[in-house]
Amino acid sequence: RTVYVNGTYLPETEATVSIFDRAFLMADGVYEVTSVLGGKLIDFEGHLARLERSLSELDIRKPAVFDDLLEIHRELVKVNGIEDGLVYLQMTRGSDGDRDFAFPDPETTEPTVVLFTQSKPGLANSPQAEKGLKIISIDDIRWGRRDIKTVQLLYPSMGKMMAKRAGCDDAWLVEDGHVTEGTSNNAYIVKGGKIITRQLSNDILHGITRAAVLRFAKEAQMTVEERFFTVDEAKQADEAFVTSASAFVMPVVEIDGQSVGDGTPGPVAKRLREIYLEESLKAAI
Ligand code: PMP
Repeated sequence: RTVYVNGTYLPETEATVSIFDRAFLMADGVYEVTSVLGGKLIDFEGHLARLERSLSELDIRKPAVFDDLLEIHRELVKVNGIEDGLVYLQMTRGSDGDRDFAFPDPETTEPTVVLFTQSKPGLANSPQAEKGLKIISIDDIRWGRRDIKTVQLLYPSMGKMMAKRAGCDDAWLVEDGHVTEGTSNNAYIVKGGKIITRQLSNDILHGITRAAVLRFAKEAQMTVEERFFTVDEAKQADEAFVTSASAFVMPVVEIDGQSVGDGTPGPVAKRLREIYLEESLKAAI
């Protein structure tokens, strides 16, 4: 695989980053994941805009390479022959060659920029979408700025492992009795034809797929309610699903061992998945 590190395309085995990089020492970095379908980038502009916001919220200087990111994404997709898959991008505060809690001088510290691809043949035809996900609910003990897409992913990883050990696929995070989001996706329920998902705030990531799916749902005259919901409400719902750049729209069929609806992917989730894939493929670049 060819990867991109700080201005250079090179084989992954030759790619290096400093051990003093603040992302390595302090999780001081942000990332984006963009899907590739048929060799094209899905929702690229949305991911770029969120990246810019994440950098700005953390006072990480926007590197000059920012304006070339589309070209770099396309080049990696091309040289690695990615039909279906992902482009992972990470930007960190870099380092001044030492370890210190205070940020290094942004004038003299160049952010680290890393991109690589992952090939995922048949990404849009995942058998998981036919089966639906089984999820568990766990406490959301993450920090209070989940709207910033940082590489601080230890607790989401632990949540995924808790789910696996329980024989499930994923976990929904719960704070003050309400579902915030999934470990790596936004969470939704459907009740009486209404699509319900938590309102945006610093408590959840502002999903790029969430924004697109809610727009398509409204365009298709579906009712969307952005508000808190509980795990109990989710268990009593007609349907549940999650959205993310890599899973698109994915039905949820079981929560804490209890079937949602009839325990199979529901019609609203299925329809939204179809619409999302169709519309975002049309707009892919
Ligand atoms: N919430 C969290 C915590 C996530 O990690 C992700 C995926 N990165 C999402 C939501 C979904 O965001 P997007 O649709 O932009 O992939």
